Amino acid sequence: MNKSKINLITGGSGFLGSHLSKKLIENGEEVLCLDNFFTGTKKNINELIKRPNFELIRHDVTEPLNVEVDKIWHLACPASPVHYQHNPIKTTKTSFMGTYNMLGLAKRVGAKLLLASTSEVYGDPEVNPQIESYNGSVNTTGIRSCYDEGKRIAETLCSDYQRIHGVDVRIMRIFNTYGPNMRSDDGRVISNFIVQALKNKNLTIYGDGSQTRSFCYVDDLINGMNLLMESNFRKPINIGNPTEYTIKQLAFLIKDLINPDLKIVYEDLPQDDPKQRRPSIKLAKEILNWEPEIALKDGLIKTIEWFKKNL
Ligand code: NAD
Ligand code: UDP
Repeated sequence: MNKSKINLITGGSGFLGSHLSKKLIENGEEVLCLDNFFTGTKKNINELIKRPNFELIRHDVTEPLNVEVDKIWHLACPASPVHYQHNPIKTTKTSFMGTYNMLGLAKRVGAKLLLASTSEVYGDPEVNPQIESYNGSVNTTGIRSCYDEGKRIAETLCSDYQRIHGVDVRIMRIFNTYGPNMRSDDGRVISNFIVQALKNKNLTIYGDGSQTRSFCYVDDLINGMNLLMESNFRKPINIGNPTEYTIKQLAFLIKDLINPDLKIVYEDLPQDDPKQRRPSIKLAKEILNWEPEIALKDGLIKTIEWFKKNL
């Protein structure tokens, strides 16, 4: 009988899920990778499919699932604004029903569950950096609400399953993360700028580019995710890189790394686009002894190399 721990990764063939799958497989753990392939792709897990400790399940988390597992890494949900706004009702359904189904499974089989939540729970924040005790400023009826409110209710469900049923939950508020395995048509800013630059196209800045984000390289993020799962911390915790850039600074950085002669064009800023975003990672440092190690320029160089080979 196999006594090793079994990990269920929902959204396991997506950007973050594929990196997490690889890390756990390399540690010799068993991985059940679940995905409906809305934004995930088999290409991301090609190498893993050959491994005996990896198994792929095509399934939609809005439907219940019965499997014997020890840890549930609940990542299934489109993350790029372009993709989560494509079918916003399905996005809300995925966050609510998907988290409800996975918490039900965790309760039945006694598994730990880590929720991939997001900095979007802070909405368009009035405080900078964002600290976990800040309750956010979120529009309930805008085009981003399906994602923001979906993740907020997912956090609520986790907290209530913990209070009422004793489910052992982790709530990870992930800030903008980038790296290999992002889709070229993902629509998020780093992949957009890199793909545009490699194709000799203009870089598209939405608005005047003064809005800020703080970008975490995927390896740092996955380390934080593993530390959180292994910890005993059951409240929301920010994981992200605290170095803040304007989108204009980011465009120039990527342009200079690929082709300084490229042009920038300015397009309309989408509704409710947050003006500033930077995590306070004080809690992650204290509780998990975690902080990111990879500077933006170094992470961009690795990501650009990957896109050059995979476009
Ligand atoms: P992604 O779109 O690459 O991956 C999401 C995965 O979930 C895909 O494989 C997709 O096919 C799958 N999926 C979507 N709906 C599903 C459903 N109903 N049933 C089964 N599978 C489904 O996005 P990502 O960047 O890897 O994000 C993973 C998780 O992390 C998401 O929950 C996202 O909200 C969260 N997150 C990511 C970031 C980031 O910067 N990457 C930031 C904050 C939060
Ligand atoms: N953005 C941009 N050009 C693009 C894609 C995005 O200027 O081609 C901007 C977007 O308006 C936002 C920021 O970059 O202000 C980050 O966008 P992304 O979609 O990556 O993530 P999110 O808004 O969810 O943080």
